[in-house]
Order: sequence, then C-alpha cells, then structure tokens
Amino acid sequence: METTTDIASRELWEKAKKIYLDTIVSQEEKSQVERYLSMIVSVERNGDTFVVCTSNAFSAEFLKANYSERMKKCLELFAPEGKVELEFKFREAPIPSIIKPIPDQSKRQKVSTFVSTMPLNEEYTFDEFVRGPSNSFALAAAQAVVANPGKGGYNPLFIHGGTGLGKTHLMQAIGNEIKNRDPSLAICYLTAEEYLNEYVNYMKDSNLPGFRAKYRSVDVLLLDDVQFFQKGKQIQEEFFNTFNALKDNRKQIVMTSDVAPKNLPAIEQRLISRFEGGMLQEIETPSYETRLAILKKKAEGLEVSVPDYVLEFIADKIKSHVRAMEGALGKVSVYLSAYPSSVLSNEALEHLLGDFIQKEQTMKKLNIEEIQALVAKKYSITMEQLLSPERTQSVVTPRQLAMYIARKFTTKSLPEIAKMFEKTHATIIHGVRNIEKRLDVEADLKASLAEILAEFGYKLSDKMD
Ligand code: ADP
Ligand code: MG
Repeated sequence: METTTDIASRELWEKAKKIYLDTIVSQEEKSQVERYLSMIVSVERNGDTFVVCTSNAFSAEFLKANYSERMKKCLELFAPEGKVELEFKFREAPIPSIIKPIPDQSKRQKVSTFVSTMPLNEEYTFDEFVRGPSNSFALAAAQAVVANPGKGGYNPLFIHGGTGLGKTHLMQAIGNEIKNRDPSLAICYLTAEEYLNEYVNYMKDSNLPGFRAKYRSVDVLLLDDVQFFQKGKQIQEEFFNTFNALKDNRKQIVMTSDVAPKNLPAIEQRLISRFEGGMLQEIETPSYETRLAILKKKAEGLEVSVPDYVLEFIADKIKSHVRAMEGALGKVSVYLSAYPSSVLSNEALEHLLGDFIQKEQTMKKLNIEEIQALVAKKYSITMEQLLSPERTQSVVTPRQLAMYIARKFTTKSLPEIAKMFEKTHATIIHGVRNIEKRLDVEADLKASLAEILAEFGYKLSDKMD
C-alpha cells in the first residue's frame, strides 16, 4: 500500500502528541516522554497504521513498550474512522518526516534534503520566547545569528545556563527561523549525546567517513548540551575536526551547555578555546516579571483560560525552573478544565500545587554548611579534612559527595558552592560528575547518599535535573 505523508495525517499526529503531553501531570514523566518523542525521525501513514520510525533501536523498543497504548488512544480521539494501529521501527536512513514543516512549494525555492537526526520542535520559536533581563543578551545573539548565519562574528554562538531556563528553546528557534527564511539550508539539530551515539553506530559499521561527510555537509549545526562530551576523549577529537571544517567553510555553529566552557574541566583546552572563540552568552534565572510574562505566554496556548491570579501565584512560588512553572501551569489547567467555573483560593492552589511548591521550598532550606557537616560526620572525617586539598580516597569521596548534594539538592549557584568549599568552579563540577558516574555503578555509594538525604527529609528523586 502507498505511504501517505499528507497534511491531514500530519495534523492528526501533532494533535495526538499534544493531547498526550498535555494530559501528563508529572513534570518528570513529561520531560521523559518529550525526550523519547524527540527521537522520532519520521511518521508514515499506511492506511489505518501509523509507522513511527526512530533514530535508534532502543528508543523504538522503549516507545513501543511504554507509550504505544496511550498514543494509540490519543490518535483514535482524532482519527475520523476512530481506529488506528501503531508500529514502531528503527530506521537508519529516515525518510523525510511528516512532523517536519511542509515547505511552501509556491516559492519554488530549492529545499534542503538533509534529514536531521532529531527533528526541530516547531513550537520553539522566537515568537514564543519571552524576553527579559535574564535572557535578553542571549536572545539578541540568537537573532544576530539568524540574520547572518555563519557569516557574522557570532560563530560559534555558545549559550550556557542552568536547566530549564530556555537554552534548547532558543537554539531551536534559531533553527526554525533560519529554515523559514531559507529552506535550502541544511539545518541539523541534535544533542551531543545523540551525536556521540551516532558516531558509535557509524564506527560499528566501519563508516566513519560517512559520519564525517554527513556532519561536514550541514550549513547550520545546532549542538545541544555539549557538557556531555566530557564523557569521552575520542568524540572530542572527532568534534574538534568537524568544528574546524565547518568554521573554515563559514558554516554556523551554535552550542549549549549547563556551564560556561571554562567550567567544563574534562574537555580539552583546544576545544574550550574554540568554544570561546565566537560569542558566549549566559541565560540566567528569570525575575518575577519575566516568570509571569512566560506563564502568560504559555497560558495563551492552552484550551482553558487560566486567570491572572493563578499565574501570579505560580510566578511567585516557583522561581528556579521555567520547566517547573510549566508543570504547575499544566496541573492547574487540567483542574480548571474539569471544573471551569471554580475560583481557587490560595489554600486551594497551595494544595493543588503542593508537590511543586514543596520541592521549591525544601531546595532552599538545605544549607551547604549543614550538608558538609553531616557528610563529614557520616564518613568520620573532620570539616577541616573535608575542605582541605587532601587527595586520599577516604576524604575525596565525602568531599565530592557533599559537592554533589549541594549542587543537585539546593538552588545555590556554582560560585556560591565553590566559595563554601574553598575550591574552583571546575573542581566542583568535576566532583559532581565523578559522583554521578559512580552512582550509576556503585550501589553502596547510592545507599549512603540516600541515607544522608533521608536525614534532611529528602529522597533521591528530589534531585534537580
Ligand atoms: P534548557 O534547554 O535550558 O534546559 P528548555 O529550552 O528546554 O531549557 O526550556 C524549558 C521550558 O521552558 C521549555 O518549555 C521552554 O519553552 C520554556 N522556556 C524557558 N525560557 C523561556 C522563555 N524565555 N520564554 C518562553 N518559554 C521559555
Ligand atoms: Mg536543553
């Protein structure tokens, strides 16, 4: 049977995806679902069957096992026949996706045939991005890149800042806008993690030249979360060469990271200098006014109308992550769509958003000195040892564990933490990453961490991402 990638199917898929995401209450789950959905490279329609292809075999399996039932239900809500089938497949060379914008043929412009490993999220546009003092420089730099990709002084553009503050949104807005202006440009968006995965796959197939050719043929490379490159030396070498090739050919590179390049201790110096060689911009935590403006913007896109006092309440209570604010807004909107005429008192809001608010408050409550003192006590070392430069393992582990707790369970900034530990930023980041790696494999360490956290009334799952 013929495969269709018509507009009606595309709309149906988009609607189903939206309702799927809108009806997830837990923010953590939502982020996970979003992450997996972003690995979908194409969707074909084959009669009643939607065939979803992903960029790797694991995500196809995962989507199938965890999401197919609910996704099917969501599709059936909109399908005129009311019945659909869903299949998940791994396809190495994806066909053009129906999720991608269908180019306006009337312009008769050449359209790039480059297929990005991860599709751009069309909702991440400049129009949807709220400007405020915390992000105005990064936004201006992004717009400068769009005006003159590859050719201006902003190459590379490196955007850094904490989780959930809009880096990915801004980066994808660059991609979406460049694509609108010139569909002939090959725009490639992906995370550094996915870049590494692909590298490994090409290597397995003894096709590194293919990998290089692919990434050196792009006009705009949008590489998200480059802190991930700290995991390997070989990928850094590989990227170094691609970076140079693109830059020499005046192709645009945009990168994001959770910290500034100089605070990426496990990344080679020559790459750090490349990262710093263009334009460096930070996105900071938004002010109350910006938080409220973001919430108003997000609320416009909802089917229910959320009153201002609710938006003000959320902006006031949730300060650290834009993503958490969105989660809270989602929860209230689900409630309001069930009880549209209800007026929510502050107590009712506090109750409804209890999880989000509690998380925010406990985050603030923990102070670094208490963390240090408790960890030192648990490991039977003194505070002096914990803060010393001593390198024996029996002192390094508790020191790094305390750094990890300070970084992942409080809202303290990196400079504040560094000061409290009398260390450099780089040392803190290195310590935190080291513990992260060890926690993956050392059950004992994980148990000790859980025990320490429990004394503060925390759980491992309270970690900020
Ligand atoms: P990061 O990549 O920095 O972790 P994201 O770009 O994923 O953060 O942003 C998290 C969420 O917050 C997204 O849904 C994004 O649309 C939203 N967001 C963040 N900053 C803004 C902003 N200034 N205007 C509108 N939405 C924003
Ligand atoms: Mg991101």
